[in-house]
Amino acid sequence: MKVIGLLGGMSWESSAEYYRIVNERVRERLGGLHSARCVLYSVDFADIERMQVEGRWDDAAAVLDDAAQALVRAGAEIVVLCTNTMHKVADRIDVPLLHLADTTAAAVRRTGLRRVGLLGTAFTMEQDFYTGRLAEHGLDVLVPETADRATVHRVIYDELVLGVVRDESRQAYREVIARLVERGAEGIILGCTEIELLLTQADSPVPVFPTARLHAELAVDLALGDDIRVLPDPPPPAST
Ligand code: GLU
Repeated sequence: MKVIGLLGGMSWESSAEYYRIVNERVRERLGGLHSARCVLYSVDFADIERMQVEGRWDDAAAVLDDAAQALVRAGAEIVVLCTNTMHKVADRIDVPLLHLADTTAAAVRRTGLRRVGLLGTAFTMEQDFYTGRLAEHGLDVLVPETADRATVHRVIYDELVLGVVRDESRQAYREVIARLVERGAEGIILGCTEIELLLTQADSPVPVFPTARLHAELAVDLALGDDIRVLPDPPPPAST
């Protein structure tokens, strides 16, 4: 079994889920007393959140690159960055990552769906680093309208990353999902690793894709030697 490196703390509420899921997955697959071989590097989220708000993405990339290198020095062979948002700087981390958008897109594609709604932070919903990456897999991505995006973002930073789970917010998210489904979404990506603390499949009339769970489970499957590819298909050769 390969060693999984969890680059977490963004927030630790979801990193704790990753830790639980990798261990449950190993037990499910190997049985007995087996558990995941893993290393966790957990950053101080207050520093990262400030860098996000101030647009200091280079500084954030440097912090995450240092953390990723430390994971590798500690023996990590598969590194997972336990946040969708910080994949904004994934290409500035000098360690191969199991990319969360690729993991998610591959899971959606396996179901045969193509048109998906995306819930996440404003960074994830509004910037190309995530939606563009999903589109490279052939997905057609719908994001909520402006007011709904603000609600989804606010609930993440004011509640979920603090471990606060409120019924009113769950209801608000259900309504956002209903509007995405009305606009044609056939599935909903829970594109922030804390959203699955608030929502389950029961909150959506269409399939949901919980990114933390998908990511953690795939890391285990790879650690156990499964041959799974999640990169988008290369573009067809240009016709002459
Ligand atoms: N965990 C979150 C995500 O998956 C948001 C927190 C962060 O900004 O990293 O996007």
